[in-house]
Amino acid sequence: MADYIKKSFAIECVDRIIQRDDSGNNDVVNALKAWKSFIEYAPTENVEPVRCGQWIMCDKQNPNDVANDNYLYECSECKSKDLHSKRAIVPYCWHCGSHMIMQR
Ligand SMILES: [Zn+2]
Repeated sequence: MADYIKKSFAIECVDRIIQRDDSGNNDVVNALKAWKSFIEYAPTENVEPVRCGQWIMCDKQNPNDVANDNYLYECSECKSKDLHSKRAIVPYCWHCGSHMIMQR
């Protein structure tokens, strides 16, 4: 899986290094400016941060659908509800897209 960083963060890091550089070597500063330019013009990907959450059982004592062993769960991130079995693997929240951390 690829890792992504914010372009603005990378540019800020290079700017800080340039500001702190006390080498007096113009080649170093020019190389850093070239890196900054490279970062500024590098192609970007349209990515979103991965959200992680958990299904929280709303009422352990009173399952909403006893015949089918279904319980009402709430997404810890967006508070949306989902009815599913304890044995069901529901890896994503249908509403907000959070990756659900599986609990045993
Ligand atoms: Zn959600």
